[in-house]
Amino acid sequence: MSGGPAEPLREVIARHGLHASKALGQNFILDRQLLARIAAIPGPLEGRTVYEVGPGPGGLTRALLDAGANVVAVERDRRCLPALAELEEAFAGKLKIIEGDALAVDDRAEAGEGADIVANLPYNVGTALLLRWLGGQDWPPWWRSLTLMFQREVAERIVAAPGSEHYGRLSVAAQWRCRARIAMNVHRSAFVPPPKVTSAVVHIVPEKMPEGVRAEVVEKVTAAAFGQRRKMLRQSLKGVPGALEALDALGIDPQRRAESLGVEDFVALARALS
Ligand code: SAM
Repeated sequence: MSGGPAEPLREVIARHGLHASKALGQNFILDRQLLARIAAIPGPLEGRTVYEVGPGPGGLTRALLDAGANVVAVERDRRCLPALAELEEAFAGKLKIIEGDALAVDDRAEAGEGADIVANLPYNVGTALLLRWLGGQDWPPWWRSLTLMFQREVAERIVAAPGSEHYGRLSVAAQWRCRARIAMNVHRSAFVPPPKVTSAVVHIVPEKMPEGVRAEVVEKVTAAAFGQRRKMLRQSLKGVPGALEALDALGIDPQRRAESLGVEDFVALARALS
């Protein structure tokens, strides 16, 4: 049956002529079991709302709907809309498709408070959205969890511990008021066409925001510190007013480098400057 539950995704793609576009960063996952495992990462979805970015031919969308979620999905490739419209019909009232660029959509208004966000996106769009979702002074955020596919190397940067080679701005942004972990590695052969590198799904859940800290100050201090990550803090933080005095007051040796500071050190530094 066209668009029916048993139709393999490969056939959905062939029927709609959805050969993957490189410009749109399209690497589709066709394995229903793998898609079901990804859809299980946010936890039970029965009756919950999921905001999905980049549904493409709808494989992951389908897995989320099968798990009982209501899905709001934004896709910028018009070619995918007929395949997604079939899903909309099959799951009447449970799926809403928005045509557009996820970077320009008012996701909070579209998905509503408390939605789980799930996305398998091109790397640059994914990182830009991640930073947007992690940023801002409002906390807890409007979303309940993030389940996002990245290149393995980017996923490692998100969850990296101090002192490790991947530790940097992205690690602090993801960890200073969230818990972040790699939930699953996904081999390149799972995608059509296969990307050059291994991917990984990151799962991020908000935690309590430390008191007395402004998010924009955390961002400013980490940007300065990691902008010159090989330099000592007394050099890299020279341009941030009050930072050297704050290091002194906190007993942080200004000869250290950014990569040796824990996430809680950046929070303490930002608190002193907030
Ligand atoms: N979710 C599908 C899957 O897992 O097989 C498709 C994943 S594919 C890596 C990325 C999808 O994101 C593509 O369908 C692409 O058209 C879409 N996309 C790329 N940039 C986008 C953007 N800025 N806004 C919305 N969708 C975008």
